[in-house]
Formats: sequence, structure tokens, C-alpha cells
Amino acid sequence: MAFSSRPIVIGNWKMNGLAASLDQVEAVRDAIAKGQAGRCETGLCLPATLIAAAAARVEGSRLMIGGQDCHVASHGAHTGDIAAAMLKDAGATLVIVGHSERRADHGETDMLVNQKAQAAALAGLTPVICVGETRAERDAGETLRVIGRQIDESVPRSTDPKTTIVAYEPVWAIGTGLTPTAADVAEVHAFIHRRLDSLLPSGGTTIRILYGGSVKASNAAELLAIDHVDGALVGGASLKAADLLGITSVYR
Ligand code: PEP
Repeated sequence: MAFSSRPIVIGNWKMNGLAASLDQVEAVRDAIAKGQAGRCETGLCLPATLIAAAAARVEGSRLMIGGQDCHVASHGAHTGDIAAAMLKDAGATLVIVGHSERRADHGETDMLVNQKAQAAALAGLTPVICVGETRAERDAGETLRVIGRQIDESVPRSTDPKTTIVAYEPVWAIGTGLTPTAADVAEVHAFIHRRLDSLLPSGGTTIRILYGGSVKASNAAELLAIDHVDGALVGGASLKAADLLGITSVYR
């Protein structure tokens, strides 16, 4: 298995979870403390309502807490939005930007995602910048062109490779139980690393690239062993600690 030296598995709870669900955060925290979670970094990107409470519960733990979106501005008249500095203040260290559900539901463009990634970095958060093709784009043979454009336009030139993460999430694989072939994942991840390397003044080969889209315990070993796959972004299978730990524990 060709695992990255600094793999990371990040859960994305999306719009799921009430205070009662914090027991799942505690279960992941406790598994990490007991050395039962695998040799990877682990993060949970929670609904904004749970971040402060979760951060308090993981204090002193290596489990990271994150948000799922942030505004480009540091504060101001943006009703319902949340600033990166607010996430940081609540105890987050990560934030997802440009998830395909936000691109689709809220019309987020590559340029906006780029600005959000900059705002996150400025606030001291690690942005997890998402890219991915639709089914129609893959069927039309457009995958690398689309991913190349998303990388060029969504990833700020000022990106620090050590504190930025990119997630490749084919839109058609999210929540569907479908996954690309290992060869397709390998091709896209290698392409993203090359593209980042030519794009960023500080180089891009060390940026961690996560695979996301229907990762679960039963397919994690195969997906996480693919070259240039430095971890996973996990939706549905991150809601229950046992399911997430089934993925992190691939990193033995
Ligand atoms: C996601 O939404 O980031 C995701 C990968 O979802 P799922 O694992 O449920 O496909």
C-alpha cells in the first residue's frame, strides 16, 4: 500500500446533527485517544450550531473540528452567513469550501470559492477546497478539463501547501454508492498534483488531495491505497463514529 506520510480523513456531516449527536464526536475522540483510530489525522466538519460544543469536547485531543462553508468577508451585513474568523473563534481549525452541494444549491463559482479559501487562510483555518466533475462531464470526456479549470480558478495563488487541502469529489459519486475506478481516481489525483505544482509559486506536490464520494469501510482500503490519494472526505459514513473509524483504521 502506498499511503501518504500525512494522511487525513475528514467527515462532513452536512445538514445533520443535533446536540445529542455529539456522543459520536466523543466516540471518535476516545478511539483516537486509545490508539484505535488508525495512523491518520482526523477531522469532523460539523453544522455551525455544533462547532463550539464539539470543540470544547475535543480539547486536548488530536481530533480536529471544522465548518462546512465560510463567507469571503470578515464580518458585516451578510444575514445568515458565517465568517471564517467566527468558525476559528468557535474552535474550528478546518473549513470546507466549494463543496459541490454549495456550488449547485447556492450558485457558488470558482472565483467565489477562491475568495473563501483566501478568507479561511487569513483567519488561520485550513481550507478544504472541493472540485469534481458531473456525470455528464465525465461521460463527455471532459473530466480533466473541468478539474483543471476548477483547480486553476478555485485555488488561490497564495496557497500554503502545508495548510491547504484539496478534495476530489466526483459529483456523481456523492451519496450514490458509486465510485470511480481506481485507475480513474489515480489519473485525476496525479493530474491535480501536477496542476497545483505548476500553478503555485510554492509548489503543489505536497498538498494533500483527498478522495470523496461514497467512501465507506468496505471500499476505503482500495481507495486510500491509490497513488496521490492522501486521505478521504467522507459524508454519510462520517455520521456514526463506528463507520468513520472503519475508514480511519485502514491506516494501520
Ligand atoms: C461529501 O458530500 O463530501 C461526500 C463525500 O458524501 P458521501 O461520502 O456521502 O458520498
